[in-house]
Amino acid sequence: MDLIGRCRELAAISEEPGALTRPYASPAMARANELVAGWMEQAGMTTRTDAAGNLVGRIAGADLEAGTLLLGSHLDTVRDAGAFDGPLGVLVAVAAVAELRARDVTLPFAVDVYGFADEEGLRYGAAYLGSRAVAGTFDPELFALADADGVHLRDALTAFGGDPVGIESAARRDAIAYLEVHIEQGPVLERAGAPLGVVTAIDGQTRARVVFTGEAGHAGTVPMGARRDAACALAEFVLAVEEAGRAEPGLVATVGRLTASPGAPNAIPGEATASLDVRHPDDAVRTAAAAALLARATAIGAARDVAVLWEPRMDAPAVAMDPRVVAALAEAAGSAPLLASGAGHDAVALAAAMPVGMLFVRCAGGVSHAPEESVEEADAAAAVEVLVRAICALAAAP
Ligand SMILES: [Zn+2]
Repeated sequence: MDLIGRCRELAAISEEPGALTRPYASPAMARANELVAGWMEQAGMTTRTDAAGNLVGRIAGADLEAGTLLLGSHLDTVRDAGAFDGPLGVLVAVAAVAELRARDVTLPFAVDVYGFADEEGLRYGAAYLGSRAVAGTFDPELFALADADGVHLRDALTAFGGDPVGIESAARRDAIAYLEVHIEQGPVLERAGAPLGVVTAIDGQTRARVVFTGEAGHAGTVPMGARRDAACALAEFVLAVEEAGRAEPGLVATVGRLTASPGAPNAIPGEATASLDVRHPDDAVRTAAAAALLARATAIGAARDVAVLWEPRMDAPAVAMDPRVVAALAEAAGSAPLLASGAGHDAVALAAAMPVGMLFVRCAGGVSHAPEESVEEADAAAAVEVLVRAICALAAAP
């Protein structure tokens, strides 16, 4: 099956000419769902769209009491996206179902392949709208969110054919596990020369906004010794963040946004702000690193007579993959490396309701969220084979 070709065909369905942009509950999402539903039906699945707008393809199992194994990923995208982040996982799952049928495999449980309607949060700034509905953790207060055009989520979902009032019906109490295939979005597998990797955990995240407040002044008249330059304090902090990330295996620490004000070439910055993002698969390591960075910021400020304000913005725990699912994937994938995911995925939302596991596929240069995203057909085919074997292993030892 030409999975890369299918991803490219899907990538042509966009809200923006010349770029792939597919927001939640948009006309492009409806067309994407229609195309993928056709492929699901070719693979022998019945299809429907649930109350949250997720596309669901199903094959029944032999035992009605055995529950349903969920597979899939998301079909929405970021702005100017690549063809593989999300769709590859959906289409690998569809191909795995087709392969199971071709091999005449009878499974005890049913298999549902999801094309989640929102993982990226592009339209409403709230990620996992589709998978949260399936996990049963969708907060109805989200329906009041408005997009850039003032369209409320409730109205967008209704227009899309979803059912805000019946959103609870999207929750899956019968799910036995969720398996997701996704591009790695990083360079680790490529550097290891490995087509696939088995995910052990999804990193927890700390985010904070750090504000340094000194004193603004004239760049020409205030002598160097008399300054309280907020940007200089911030610069020291940025390097401390890098040093912390390098010192701890598995830790990534980033200052992605910097501002200085008043922001004139001839003014000493009186205020400077930094965003901070710290991630690690072990929550204790992450929170200790964040606490150490807070202490470091405070010390930098004290040495420079610059005030420091630390505003916590996010403290999301790490998500463990289910040991049994990890074992099934690792066994099926042979010598594939084990790795933690630094990025969030639908599996984060679904882990609240069921055991989850993920398989990563190598992508060129580790590039994602860009049109240059690229995956080899052979790697995608290897992912199909591993998924088929893992599903059979789960069926053999329920
Ligand atoms: Zn994704």
